[in-house]
Amino acid sequence: MRLYACPACGARLYFRNSACGACGVRVVYSDARDAFVANADSCSNREDIGCNWADEDVVEHLCRSCQMTDVIPDLSVEPNAALWAEGETAKRWVLATLSRWGWFGAEDPGPLPVFHFKSERTHAGPERVMMGHAAGVITLNVAEADDAIRVRNREMLDEEYRTMLGHLRHELAHFIFDRLAAEPGFSEAFRALFGDERTDYGEALRRHYSEGPRAEWSGRFITPYASAHPHEDWAETVAHLMHLTDIVDAATAVELAWPTTDGVPADAYETTDSDALIHAAVDLGLALNQVNRAMGLADLYPFVLTEAVRDKLAFSHFWLNRRARLQS
Ligand SMILES: [Zn+2]
Ligand SMILES: [Zn+2]
Ligand SMILES: [Zn+2]
Repeated sequence: MRLYACPACGARLYFRNSACGACGVRVVYSDARDAFVANADSCSNREDIGCNWADEDVVEHLCRSCQMTDVIPDLSVEPNAALWAEGETAKRWVLATLSRWGWFGAEDPGPLPVFHFKSERTHAGPERVMMGHAAGVITLNVAEADDAIRVRNREMLDEEYRTMLGHLRHELAHFIFDRLAAEPGFSEAFRALFGDERTDYGEALRRHYSEGPRAEWSGRFITPYASAHPHEDWAETVAHLMHLTDIVDAATAVELAWPTTDGVPADAYETTDSDALIHAAVDLGLALNQVNRAMGLADLYPFVLTEAVRDKLAFSHFWLNRRARLQS
């Protein structure tokens, strides 16, 4: 994620800002311009969930991100509003960064994802919410924005990392897969590297949850869950490509020095050099793990990238960087 500048005084703005800390001007983020503007109409969700994006819709006065949400939780039940707001904040972050690769922004003519933010807390009592992607609809459980619940789930599922940002990246990767499957050459190349995604998905997940991950998973997969089925391998790999690219982008924005890497891509979202991007991210990730330990926090990037995983990340990078691919 980039840093931004106040349109009135030039002071630094962060992506989540709704006002300038220096001069106090009220700002909105224009996703079409990838910049903050002053004195512009804001998304009508600004009051309810703190959405700081610009109004892009003449009918409902919603921003481009909020327009993609079709279902929201019952806001009269606590603490659904706060959890939904967290989920939308993560969604805006992921959408803004994906648009730099050419996905889902103003210039993308393709179909857009539809989001259902659901809560297990309803007026009628507890309701089960399954997260996932099906036929263009991404369902998210807002309970996952609650730190205690998410940590409990992470421990129950024996995962190294679990965040709302990660959920959004994973589910959007499934959506992007469906769009790429319509492009010539994608499916054949995908199957050569990830395996045939037409194998029984339900059976594969049942086996994963009853028998655990494949014994040899760590050599070939980024996470144990990625070994469940080629669709999950893709979603996990692509989510990690998004993590790694954003780590490099954020570090570039704040001018961090790379411990051992020369030739870091000038723009993490513009580069087509997958190896350099991944190398730079890993170099920094290892360093930031140590920085986090200084605060007693979990490692920033607690994953090992084997050669097989790097090959899949490079493949994903080629297809995700839609802007560069369509220009070449
Ligand atoms: Zn200012
Ligand atoms: Zn909005
Ligand atoms: Zn998935």
